Amino acid sequence: MTASAPAAASPHVMTTYGRLPIALERGEGVRVWDVNGKQYLDALGGIAVNTVGHNHPKLVPALQDQVAKLIHSSNYYHVPLQEELAKMLVERSGLTNVFFCNSGLEANEAALKLARKYGHDKGIDKPVVVVYEKAFHGRSIATLSATGNPKVQAGFGPLVEGFIRVPMNDIEAIKKATEGNPNVVAVFFETIQGEGGVNPMRIEYLQQLRELCNERDWLMMIDEVQCGMGRTGKWFAHQWAGIKPDVMPLAKGLGSGVPIGAVVAGPKAAGIFGVGNHGTTFGGNPLAMRAGVETIRIMEEEGLLQNAADVGAHLKAALERELGGLPGVKEIRGQGLMIGVELDRPCGVLVGRAAEAGLLLSVTADSVIRMVPSLTLTRAEADEIVALLAPLVKALLAE
Ligand SMILES: *Cc1c(COP(=O)(O)O)cnc(C)c1O
Repeated sequence: MTASAPAAASPHVMTTYGRLPIALERGEGVRVWDVNGKQYLDALGGIAVNTVGHNHPKLVPALQDQVAKLIHSSNYYHVPLQEELAKMLVERSGLTNVFFCNSGLEANEAALKLARKYGHDKGIDKPVVVVYEKAFHGRSIATLSATGNPKVQAGFGPLVEGFIRVPMNDIEAIKKATEGNPNVVAVFFETIQGEGGVNPMRIEYLQQLRELCNERDWLMMIDEVQCGMGRTGKWFAHQWAGIKPDVMPLAKGLGSGVPIGAVVAGPKAAGIFGVGNHGTTFGGNPLAMRAGVETIRIMEEEGLLQNAADVGAHLKAALERELGGLPGVKEIRGQGLMIGVELDRPCGVLVGRAAEAGLLLSVTADSVIRMVPSLTLTRAEADEIVALLAPLVKALLAE
């Protein structure tokens, strides 16, 4: 796509990604540079991963210190940093216990195991979990079965059974779909769908769902892998609705780039797993735990929740001003630094054009431009994103 394309298809790495012809070499804050020295403004943040920005002056030395002390031990032993990070997550979520793993799908897989065992413990042999249209929960066999995207599922059947799928923001639809079904054990959803196109659940709907879960004794399991960890301006996106889940998978932003996942559980779910029910070799290793602890510490020291809320609102308003109301722009939505601009047509071509112009972002669900930058983004950098993006969108709409 660019004249100086450095990277061709690899003869050795499997071709599971449609990659841009760009290879990034280093970063600083929300800037990254490729192997040819070209600079980009990074509005993608490694897909909502690089919470504190690239090469953060507090995170890097902390990780270097940890690498020199202990990278990995084993869950045969106690890992004090697990206790430290778990305490931080519990205090900020109002939940009680944490299981650590290494990625989003692993956290979701653990949540689904919790739901099934919750059912079995109640004498339900064939537990059913309610999931949503357009949901994305990962690419393992169970999590792709929970995902509401035929493209993710194609070629990987038979899918795991035990799911019922419903539309978002429609309380009557879920009541109807589960009516008289004694096997339902949990509802599983993203507060703001990420891959599905930055689709928020409405606050009233979240509150109605919480009531329904209480009434029916279902686990409320909220996949905050993408929208959690401060991205929306609160620690967890569901907190805007004043509710608490029973199970909350986390990953992406939790380690600012070091692979990590976690399942945070409240009283109803925290005791479901006993010794031997679940485990992982790498999960909870000291390096990943240190990354999580330092990420949360830096977020608080630098006021990044407030920054995500403020700069996110500023970015959304600037996008509204430049693009809102244009024929072809359907909606600008999201919260904090998780923003989608939906067009009335496929716009995947914008990803390459933006990169050429020096801006990294993604297009999801074919027609939604998605921005999930580091939570350190400044207003000036937000203005720069808009200045780079708006002309590209206008040009596309004029084609
Ligand atoms: C990215 C994502 C996942 C999968 O996480 P991986 O680390 O890629 O396995 C699951 N759920 C949501 C909401 C996500 O955004």
